[in-house]
Amino acid sequence: MSTPTPSSTRPATRTPDRSTVTDALIRANRDYARTFRAPGTDARPVLGVAVVACMDARLDLHAALGLGLGDCHTIRNAGGVVTDDTIRSLTISQRALGTRSVVLIHHTGCGLQTLTEEFRYELEQEVGQRPAWAVESFRDVDQDVRQSMRRVCTSPFLPHTEDVRGFVFDVGCGRLREIRDFD
Ligand SMILES: [Zn+2]
Repeated sequence: MSTPTPSSTRPATRTPDRSTVTDALIRANRDYARTFRAPGTDARPVLGVAVVACMDARLDLHAALGLGLGDCHTIRNAGGVVTDDTIRSLTISQRALGTRSVVLIHHTGCGLQTLTEEFRYELEQEVGQRPAWAVESFRDVDQDVRQSMRRVCTSPFLPHTEDVRGFVFDVGCGRLREIRDFD
């Protein structure tokens, strides 16, 4: 039986068999664990930074930012938006695990730019229940980064908001563009 392997080892043109993708990941983990070396740190990120980013599959945060194992907290969701749950993670990150800096990363070509809040009503039509959460869809990615920065900077739960910076990652060239005109 043909089973998929992670993208690091499979040819780009091969289409994975979705029914067995988890099995392939488990096999890949066995290889990973064979040469794994624990970083030797505790749960506090070495660089004292928390990165909030979109879950997009084309954004490899550690590679894109030169991060190593143990360096940072990564908090990811659809859009990289700052929801109550993102604030929950950031609060724990800062108050219990010593981070001081926050980096927000949205990106070009985000799936959330193709959705609207209608998505919630379509769900309601289909399943008979409207979700309590907002879709957090957006049109202007720069504006959405500013919105996220504002939510972090105005949260009463976060003691460290002096170093909060926001960026747009270009999925075509791999570069970060900083959103500077934030007040
Ligand atoms: Zn995205």
